[in-house]
Amino acid sequence: MIILFLGAPGSGKSTQGELLANFKGWKWLSTGQMLRESEEPWIQEKLKTGELFDDDFITELALKEIAKYENVILDGFPRTKRQAEMIVEAGVKLDKVVEIDVDAEEITKRMLLRGRMEDNAEVIGKRIGIYEATRDEIVECLVEKENTEYVKIDGKGTPEEVQMRVRENI
Ligand code: AMP
Repeated sequence: MIILFLGAPGSGKSTQGELLANFKGWKWLSTGQMLRESEEPWIQEKLKTGELFDDDFITELALKEIAKYENVILDGFPRTKRQAEMIVEAGVKLDKVVEIDVDAEEITKRMLLRGRMEDNAEVIGKRIGIYEATRDEIVECLVEKENTEYVKIDGKGTPEEVQMRVRENI
């Protein structure tokens, strides 16, 4: 079972994906987390910019990891049209796409509160922009063309409230 969690940075998709993975005993696979845990200086430097990593680099990293597990919740990957195409080409079939829906104003508020190293207003704006530009292409490639089941979850409320909605829809 492979489920993709989609949502803007700060939407709560990581919290929700991780909560569900723990509940089900599944692997939570976040490319952002993998990169943050890296000890490579160039990776740490690039993370501070909020820019996306190269499609080939990140796809190779993610596919190797996906292959190790039977049940996976994908977080933050695929993140571009090319990455989505590459996982289809690699024969990886998603079982479900779950989108956590929260508006931009709420997202900015949440991210500033989270206070992670690379989160400042400029970087947050850039990351929301990147997300919005690519979200439709990913849905087109993975949901419409591949006929994958899609559910949209209202991301407002406490993490527990949102998690209940997620579980009801899985
Ligand atoms: P996240 O924790 O998902 O918000 O990711 C943090 C950062 O890691 C992003 O701003 C990107 O720089 C990088 N990153 C994570 N996943 C990807 C991906 N699939 N493609 C490119 N860059 C990524």
